[in-house]
Amino acid sequence: MSGVRSAVAARSAGPVVDESGRVTLAGVGKRYETKRGPVDAVADVDLEVAPGEFVAIVGASGCGKSTLLRILAGFEGHTSGTVEVGGAPVRGPGPARGVVFQDYGLFPWLTVAENVRFGLRQQRWSRARAKQRAAEMIEVVGLTRFADRFPGELSGGMQQRVAIARVLAADPALLLMDEPFGALDALTRTTMQHELKRLRAESGATVLFVTHSIEEAVYLADRVVVMAGGASHGAPGHIAAIVPVDLGDERDVNGPAFNDLERRIAALVHES
Ligand code: ADP
Ligand code: MG
Repeated sequence: MSGVRSAVAARSAGPVVDESGRVTLAGVGKRYETKRGPVDAVADVDLEVAPGEFVAIVGASGCGKSTLLRILAGFEGHTSGTVEVGGAPVRGPGPARGVVFQDYGLFPWLTVAENVRFGLRQQRWSRARAKQRAAEMIEVVGLTRFADRFPGELSGGMQQRVAIARVLAADPALLLMDEPFGALDALTRTTMQHELKRLRAESGATVLFVTHSIEEAVYLADRVVVMAGGASHGAPGHIAAIVPVDLGDERDVNGPAFNDLERRIAALVHES
């Protein structure tokens, strides 16, 4: 933790705003060719995310949230429009983009600590620095006692925390998170929300965060993107509304302004 703080402080006094975290989606569409004909997973998506901004994406199942994140991660191509990260077209995965998806993507034959160090070593961090950084991030996610265990020995929620530690360790300019806390129990989830908020404030990373929880979206985000549509709705997935969260930094999930906004967004999700 203190390592993160001092690393950031060494670079500048405040959060580092990194242009490479800027996201630009313009007229983005994704068409899958299937045996039963073409399926438009998403269409006409326009979204600009400023460096350092936290954007949550909510919407019913099948409206294209994961598709958008996979495209931004460079895991699959789009079929129309423009997709840029840091002002450059996305052509494939890259180390400036950290990805936490629902399947944890851990290597079962590596320990927790080795999993967290893996990406750092690939980015040519020295063994000693990678080891120290990994230990810090494992502490942040509360798994220090399990650092030498293998993923198969951990619960789903713990594995997800390892995946989160691994991504945060690399300090990416853009974090793409697809329901990252979905597998966690309520208490751990709250802790992870606090930690993510804190780490992101320190690192200045841009975050795109898909969640089913409107409360989580309103708690974490600067803006909430509401998506709608999807194959079962007979229309491609699209952005139905974008709601700014003007609640300041200290957010009381039980406060009236918070609950009003939650209700407004829930209504948008259900009516769209
Ligand atoms: P969400 O994450 O919002 O639940 P997805 O992005 O997973 O939605 O899916 C959006 C739509 O794209 C859905 O209708 C889904 O059936 C369709 N889709 C996703 N992947 C494929 C694929 N490989 N082939 C065909 N259709 C797909
Ligand atoms: Mg999804």
